[in-house]
Amino acid sequence: MTSPLHALRSREVRVAFDGVEVVAGVDLDLRPGEWLGLIGPNGSGKSTFLNSLVGLVPRTGTVELGDGRSPGATDLSLMPQAPELPPGMTVVEYVLLGRTAHLGWFASESRADRVVATDVLRRLGLASFARRQVRSLSGGEAQRMVIARALVQQSPVLLLDEPTSALDVGHQVEVLELVDELRREDGLTVVAAMHDLGMAGRYADRLLLLERGRPVALGTPGQVLEPELLSRVYDHPVQVHELGGHLVVLPAPRDRHTSTVAAPLDLSARRSARDPHSEEVS
Ligand code: ADP
Ligand code: MG
Repeated sequence: MTSPLHALRSREVRVAFDGVEVVAGVDLDLRPGEWLGLIGPNGSGKSTFLNSLVGLVPRTGTVELGDGRSPGATDLSLMPQAPELPPGMTVVEYVLLGRTAHLGWFASESRADRVVATDVLRRLGLASFARRQVRSLSGGEAQRMVIARALVQQSPVLLLDEPTSALDVGHQVEVLELVDELRREDGLTVVAAMHDLGMAGRYADRLLLLERGRPVALGTPGQVLEPELLSRVYDHPVQVHELGGHLVVLPAPRDRHTSTVAAPLDLSARRSARDPHSEEVS
């Protein structure tokens, strides 16, 4: 049997709220095992697009898996940007909710489900939190727990909506490396909406840039992380530097901006001058 050419395909996906289109025709062919980074300014439709793929918001257009089926409950797993954390629930109970899609009517989770949940909690460094109340966790711990819930679903396609926004730099790398490891070992296909353009480019095979719901660039990080393109779409001059084989995207100070292609930045000079923007490079 030949393997499918795509893990997920969308055609003309559109979402409108009160007549205003916020996802304006997204076509995507996601290759099996690929990591696609979804980028774009606030409000450009990243979350709405991901939510529409799992049926959380109504859309038009088509979404299909490699075998031509429409995705069902266990095919796509979404880690939402702002999940509800039910009061009175423990971490392990919350993470086990990720197994719900695998259960029959009225079935309760099995030992096998618990083994999966325990393994994911361990891999995310959350084993000692299993009995804690979900509402007692710090922002970063809660974010890792929500990722754990998405991972225990063991779907072939994982949709992550800003998975690292509440994490410090060490935990960001830990979580992204874990997802990358699962991708390489289990052939997981990943779509991750991310704010940090450098981090997005570091892990993604391809980036899709949205502007007011419209896809405006799709390509390798090197093709999409283009200063002129990003400066226009983000409405702020940015600079792109290569550092240790990775691209770093930095905002240029607006007052010094004379054209969309700004001069290279001397980081040491900015740091010593205690420029508030220099925090963004640390
Ligand atoms: P992003 O994730 O890229 O920041 P979103 O997908 O959250 O963007 O939002 C895209 C646009 O859709 C925004 O203008 C937002 O206000 C709007 N929007 C999102 N959800 C709703 C909703 N339930 N009702 C009305 N407007 C919405
Ligand atoms: Mg969002």
